[in-house]
Amino acid sequence: MTSVQARPGANGRLTVGVPSKGRLAEPALRLLADAGLSFEATARSLVVPCANAPVDLLLVRTDDIPEYVQDGVVDLGITGANLVAETEARVTMLSELGFGRCTLAVAVPSEATVRSIAELAGLRVATAYPVSTRKLLATQGVECELITVSGSVEAAPRLGLAEGIVDLVSTGSTLAANGLHRLGDLLSSQAVLIGGTVPSEREEDAARLQLMLDGVVAARRRRYVMMNAREGELAMIREILPSMGAPTVLQLANEGEIAIHAAVDVDDVWTLLPALRDAGATSILVLPVERLIA
Ligand code: AMP
Repeated sequence: MTSVQARPGANGRLTVGVPSKGRLAEPALRLLADAGLSFEATARSLVVPCANAPVDLLLVRTDDIPEYVQDGVVDLGITGANLVAETEARVTMLSELGFGRCTLAVAVPSEATVRSIAELAGLRVATAYPVSTRKLLATQGVECELITVSGSVEAAPRLGLAEGIVDLVSTGSTLAANGLHRLGDLLSSQAVLIGGTVPSEREEDAARLQLMLDGVVAARRRRYVMMNAREGELAMIREILPSMGAPTVLQLANEGEIAIHAAVDVDDVWTLLPALRDAGATSILVLPVERLIA
């Protein structure tokens, strides 16, 4: 008897395209696990079923995911926003996922006389992302001769292949290590959740997964701050706290003493804690937030 592999989703389960390797793979799986999905992904799995939800993860190449979503091979996908631009896939960007942040940057050798993106007009530019590069340069009125390379883009000027490059950059250290000077950015990117036309019987599961992922992404940006203070210090502390909505104020067992709780932006914690202490707050606790559904 021959067995035919069922097409993903044919069993009524939501299928999600997830990077199988590369820099988005591990953070994408961690996000799905933090959102509450229970699964076991091994290096060789293609389809990974979730034990506690009607969801199958399809582990595939990051740059194939936009087209898989467009063509309905999977219902949803996690990939880089820049890859959606590059493939020009007709998909909907549902959520920004807060990891895989990078920019598509234009750079030239530090010693080059070219000092602006406009001055690259008519010159050769090497990139692994020709579609988005051409389009984004054109929006600045710049037309270049594009040399498409698949790797080591930063070596192209040294090899005499091009006068400039357009490549993805996160810290900029690869550019610096290769003696390249950044002229500007064409695009900012991060990992995104994308969707196509989800069949009606799976729409509810798709919406639920998006809600759970959004809840984790929002929570990662927050910290829950708890502190004690004297009642008279509340006005001053409220002024300092950039809280979501009003902070919670609780009466303590000791007369005139209160506890104040607030969810704050993670980036504010660094300046906030000394200011709270100076305003009289004591026993300040900072806790992680697991989910935040506004
Ligand atoms: P991969 O080639 O599978 O490692 O994935 C590359 C994707 O990761 C890119 O398309 C971007 O969306 C994202 N990414 C984030 N930071 C960088 C970076 N510094 N260089 C290349 N890709 C990056």
